[in-house]
Amino acid sequence: MNIVILTGAGISAESGVPTFRGPDGLWEGHRVEDVATPEAFERDPQLVHQFYNGRRAKLLDGTIHPNPAHKALARLAMLRAHRVTLVSQNIDDLHERGGSPAVLHMHGELLKSRCTECESVAVCREDLSRASICGACGGIDCLRPHVVWFGEMPFFLDEIAAAISTADLFVAIGTSGLVYPAAGFVSLARDAGARTLEINLEASAASGVFHESRRGKAGDLVPEWVEEMTR
Ligand code: NAD
Ligand code: ZN
Repeated sequence: MNIVILTGAGISAESGVPTFRGPDGLWEGHRVEDVATPEAFERDPQLVHQFYNGRRAKLLDGTIHPNPAHKALARLAMLRAHRVTLVSQNIDDLHERGGSPAVLHMHGELLKSRCTECESVAVCREDLSRASICGACGGIDCLRPHVVWFGEMPFFLDEIAAAISTADLFVAIGTSGLVYPAAGFVSLARDAGARTLEINLEASAASGVFHESRRGKAGDLVPEWVEEMTR
């Protein structure tokens, strides 16, 4: 079976990474427009660097680990009983740490930087600032987090569309169904004839579009689903 899996911030919540919209409507205390848009970076690069430096430091501080949901998805891919395409909106590296062999990070990766001058992408486990120097071109004040901000084009859209067009099953896990184009993948999958399953803590904006919705914690429900798929 061809399976396309889309994960969102909810799959990393039990690992201790806060989801996007907290109860206060803010992302880690910030309005999204202030830290996750190209305009914000132009206006106040230091604030945007500080925000992502904080997220990166937290991801690396030793308290955050992949949970049973990340590990179960890795198991599903490694068993090779099905062809699995794993697409994540998450910028953390918990799928990789959980053992997933290939992840399409459509919104980029927190542990990478990109040069706005020469476009080179590099591993980045340190803080970034306006004083950072690009290892490829030697430029200064030209590095940014390799993440996709609101208003920017996500990565891998052609690969994702191709995988969805031949999918037998599309599964969305821990995503609110509010951020496009990812929120539209379920409709593309249905149009392509795939069965669609949502696994989420609560009803999402897209729940009505799925053939089936399972409500609960990803850490419980994802291992159960993987077990069903590999029996
Ligand atoms: P979102 O925060 O908008 O939605 C998360 C969804 O997960 C919610 O519907 C919530 O009910 C559900 N959820 C919460 N805890 C859960 C659990 N334990 N098990 C199952 N479901 C759970 O996230 P989104 O839809 O991914 O959109 C957010 C955007 O913010 C993305 O573009 C992403 O790049 C970015 N973001 C990434 C991270 C990360 O990398 N971990 C964290 C926050 C935000
Ligand atoms: Zn450069």
